[in-house]
Amino acid sequence: MTKQCVCVTGSTQGIGYGVAEAFARAGARLVINSHLPDDGAVRRLAALTETHFVQADLSTVEGARTLIDASWERLGRLDTLVCNAGTFRDTDFTDLSEDAVDATFDLNVKGPMFCAQRFASRLPQDHRGASIVLTGSTNSMAAEMSSVAYDASKGAVLMLVRSLAVNLAARGIRVNGIGPGIVDTPLTRPGLDRGNARQVVNRQIPLGRIGLPDDIGGAAVFLASDAARYITGQMLYIDGGILALQMNRDVSE
Ligand code: NAD
Repeated sequence: MTKQCVCVTGSTQGIGYGVAEAFARAGARLVINSHLPDDGAVRRLAALTETHFVQADLSTVEGARTLIDASWERLGRLDTLVCNAGTFRDTDFTDLSEDAVDATFDLNVKGPMFCAQRFASRLPQDHRGASIVLTGSTNSMAAEMSSVAYDASKGAVLMLVRSLAVNLAARGIRVNGIGPGIVDTPLTRPGLDRGNARQVVNRQIPLGRIGLPDDIGGAAVFLASDAARYITGQMLYIDGGILALQMNRDVSE
């Protein structure tokens, strides 16, 4: 059977690495990416499958196009694009700068939009089984304090999933999203390591614990697989039950 060819953006660490590893274990050939030089992720993944690294800054349109073109060249084709790279630049809303909002939207919204555009434009008309998976968040649905730019960007990702799904359906390209809750990664670790933050957060999650990158990848592999061939325009939340909970009334200390 032909191996699935997959590009995962923002995948040298954190959730993207977990997604890449899940595809590697499912037998895919991979391109991973970061705006920074790779620090060993390719070597670790290459023990599981053919893996290439492309350095590209996806907060620029040129970076998005470069990544897709270079991935095509390395693998010979692409079947699946996972747009995962994202950032959090918020401060208290009263201090939120235009630069922080631009940086958030450039990477979280324009990044996946222009990666998806290049991916779709390079796919041959007769390609079968292509799909795109975008990383949204529980913040696509519910707000957090001091997260105005991030919340708005992830709300946009939810509509990007739906809009791309509608626009690319005629070409047989499915578009779905994965929406992590709170996951222990280099992005969230500084906050989680502060004081008793971990215990407080663990207590508010119905399944009782913060997620791990390893918890997320399986959903992306499923959405990109033939088992999901009639699913498009959906966001699958992987959040330990966070969005299902109306309010945490645990008053015990
Ligand atoms: P992370 O910071 O640990 O990893 C981000 C990855 O993206 C790294 O490999 C980094 O090098 C890469 N990256 C950063 N800027 C880039 C750029 N300009 N161009 C290309 N690559 C770039 O973050 P994470 O926690 O793993 O988050 C990954 C995605 O998951 C983001 O979209 C984030 O919004 C989303 N998410 C995270 C959580 C969480 O709790 N960690 C929850 C919900 C959604």
